[in-house]
Amino acid sequence: MPEDCAYFYRIENACRKFAKDYRFNRVDFPILENALLFKKGTGVDSDIVEKQMYTLRTKSGETLALRPEGTPSAVRFYLQHGARTWLQPVKLWYSGPFFRYEKAQAGRYRQFNQFGFEIIGGDGSTLDVQIITLFYNLLTSLHLSNLMVEINSIGCLPERITYRKALTKHLKKNTQNLCSDCRRRLEKNPLRVLDCKEAACQEAVSRLPHMIDYLSDECRSRFQEVLELLDELNIPYRLNPYLVRGLDYYTRTVFEIIQEGKDRDSQAEKKALVGGGRYDGLVELMGGPSTPGVGAAAGIERIAGAMKEAGRRVSYQEKPEVFVAQLGQAAKKEAVKLFEELLDRKVKVAESFDKESLNAQLKRADRLGVKYVAIIGQKEALDGSVTLKTMSTGKQRSIKRSQIAGLIKRSL
Ligand code: AMP
Repeated sequence: MPEDCAYFYRIENACRKFAKDYRFNRVDFPILENALLFKKGTGVDSDIVEKQMYTLRTKSGETLALRPEGTPSAVRFYLQHGARTWLQPVKLWYSGPFFRYEKAQAGRYRQFNQFGFEIIGGDGSTLDVQIITLFYNLLTSLHLSNLMVEINSIGCLPERITYRKALTKHLKKNTQNLCSDCRRRLEKNPLRVLDCKEAACQEAVSRLPHMIDYLSDECRSRFQEVLELLDELNIPYRLNPYLVRGLDYYTRTVFEIIQEGKDRDSQAEKKALVGGGRYDGLVELMGGPSTPGVGAAAGIERIAGAMKEAGRRVSYQEKPEVFVAQLGQAAKKEAVKLFEELLDRKVKVAESFDKESLNAQLKRADRLGVKYVAIIGQKEALDGSVTLKTMSTGKQRSIKRSQIAGLIKRSL
């Protein structure tokens, strides 16, 4: 809708500004990719691939997917287009439509827009913090408040295997309380139970052991570095021991930026605007050499919704300074020329080139709140002048057409 586009442009402009400031390069991925990319990257038994990915078979029998997320494509780009030989780390950003089969509801759509920032080829906690800070600052630049970074570390593979065993042991004691999906997940990947939104499962989760208690010394100290740096940058964060983000590729830091409602503890009032984390195993999983990476993505519709709820009014059209009104066929031609001349001189101008009466045109100008109306009638069309009406006083004067842009600019 036109009014939504105004928010979208505003958000994308903020992305462009932050991409420039933090030195990220834009990249655009195809909307249709080979489904294997997401099966491999995102994980065959992740909800995104298992339940939410739209796939289609081409005439030649290839299975393509409407992209459900951007990170696997960013990694494909990195490997396929020689970015490995660039100065590392490579900083990329993207924005566009993504597709997930969802139970459609407010803030959750089957086609939605995301922008993402990824840093590939760089290790070090400072990069995790840069990604979090960039997104946090971007959201605050859009005047969003009550933002909170929820953060956890899911460590590296060996610790996760131990943690999974501990989870399975705990969950097996209480399988009757889990939903049918989670009972199935329990065998395949018990970490997914932590993401379940069912009340009974959340209750069961609240008694489970925490991943951070299973971290190796190296992963624990990395996590501490991230938190200390967030403290120093005054980014508000809260540890969420059950945040795992349901995708196979994450390692160590995982985070979401949420907007809290009035009741800080209410799950229902929490809105996730951004989600991301470190993915040190993904490039290798896609057939490349061992290469670290970190990144996140944000939902544009969600951010636009939060801006609207906060009462931020954003309009696409700027208020015009002058309205060009015309009367008669000859005048209309001159009015079209005047309109273009004013645009050339960077004057914000509105018009009515339809068959409206002068009265109707003046009413329209009044509604737009312009300071001046430039009227061209038969006489003005012949002698190259314009009748300039000042709306606040109703006074009219005749001036040369060549002088009008300068006069308007001087008076504003
Ligand atoms: P994810 O890729 O699931 O981590 O999502 C990152 C962000 O994208 C979320 O925090 C939301 O803001 C947004 N998002 C994810 N799925 C949807 C959807 N179906 N509709 C609208 N926004 C979404």
